Amino acid sequence: MSFKEQLLAHHAAIVTGASSGIGLAVAEALAAAGAAVVVNYRSDGDRADALVERIVGDNGRAIAVQADVSDEADVARLFDVAAEAFGRIDVLVSNSGVQKDAAVADMSLADWNTVIDVNLTGQFLCAREAVRRFRVQPCKGRPARSAGTIIAMSSVHEIIPWAGHINYAAAKGGTRMLTRSLAQEVAADSIRVNAIAPGAIRTPINKDAWDSDAALEKLLRLIPYGRIGEPEDVARAAVWLASDQADYVTGTTLFVDGGMSLYPEFRDNG
Ligand code: NAD
Repeated sequence: MSFKEQLLAHHAAIVTGASSGIGLAVAEALAAAGAAVVVNYRSDGDRADALVERIVGDNGRAIAVQADVSDEADVARLFDVAAEAFGRIDVLVSNSGVQKDAAVADMSLADWNTVIDVNLTGQFLCAREAVRRFRVQPCKGRPARSAGTIIAMSSVHEIIPWAGHINYAAAKGGTRMLTRSLAQEVAADSIRVNAIAPGAIRTPINKDAWDSDAALEKLLRLIPYGRIGEPEDVARAAVWLASDQADYVTGTTLFVDGGMSLYPEFRDNG
């Protein structure tokens, strides 16, 4: 595909938590679709640099920027560096996330706070910064229709309750309403806001759920489509949502879950 034909030519994107898992695949796919990509990482600079090297080696454009998405000053700096490098920011994929699992009686306040800070407050801080920049940057001469798009990496747990993970489920449920409320608030500015809800995707965050045959078999009972998801399954959805192909799509969550959210227990009439 020539540069001109690429879905995200002339777009600059920030992907948070892009040194591993879903974020890495999303950054790679956005770059392959023509976007200049800011690979945000928290602490794994080597993996972020390796990804940037791969993208640039493939004639793409990318830089790596360290920032903690739960830190207000870090998020502002992330957007400053991105704007300086690529002139503008058109796409935010707010992907960073952590899990700190425990039964409620054993969950520390620190583990509650960490998950809310990264998975929910991080969404707010990044989205706020994106909206501020989308509103003021010039649209003239730009082929894209929207003034900017935000994609929040949510989870099937924005709707599926998850015992032993109340901090994570609360943050993802919050992300669902943040996405919808923000989409309503900024639609008149031509800013689109959507979420992706992955099901079980093979990444470091849920390694225990797939790295043994027994665990995988148990997991597959929850997935009607019969296979675990790969980061690339999510990345393809992100490219589409970020592009003008999805220009009339805002305030929604795209479930990429092989049917995990379809109450699989009811397959045999419950
Ligand atoms: P992952 O652990 O590979 O990715 C999470 C990334 O977030 C890491 O790169 C990590 O360094 C980064 N991160 C953590 N804290 C950060 C901070 N304070 N600032 C910046 N970056 C930070 O796991 P993943 O599965 O790729 O997760 C990506 C997103 O997808 C998360 O939001 C997760 O909740 C969501 N998700 C994953 C699955 C799955 O099955 N893997 C399912 C549903 C949702």
